[in-house]
Amino acid sequence: MDFKSREAYEKMIEEAYKVIPETGYKQVSARFNPPTVRIFYQGKNKTVILNFKEIAEYLNRDPNMMRKFLSLELAAPSSPSNGRLILHTRVDETTLQNTINYFIKRYVRCPVCGGYDTTLKKIGKNFLMKCEICGAESPTPPIK
Ligand SMILES: [Zn+2]
Repeated sequence: MDFKSREAYEKMIEEAYKVIPETGYKQVSARFNPPTVRIFYQGKNKTVILNFKEIAEYLNRDPNMMRKFLSLELAAPSSPSNGRLILHTRVDETTLQNTINYFIKRYVRCPVCGGYDTTLKKIGKNFLMKCEICGAESPTPPIK
């Protein structure tokens, strides 16, 4: 690479960084702070999510949809109980938090702008995610 094209290349990189709305993204991330999962174990094979309702409300998602997702991902039946969720398996806090984070990544976070101000619309078996920030509509995988 000669000096001239290298200079052009660096300038291009510089320009590219200017285009990325870094501060906007940071503000969104700072505002988005869902409650950390709180659990306790009931007997040997049950895990109770104490703040399940709180998390679903924060994410603005149907608790039943979230329940189905968790059941599917953790391969365990579940039953709602007064704002709590009982998973019929023993799962540690980290795994559970990671599964919820995965749900957020798939069904809450806008894949276009990275914002979390989204709503889900059910179309048949699929969901369409509508972003309130950038207006993008993105299809999301169905929960079977
Ligand atoms: Zn968006």
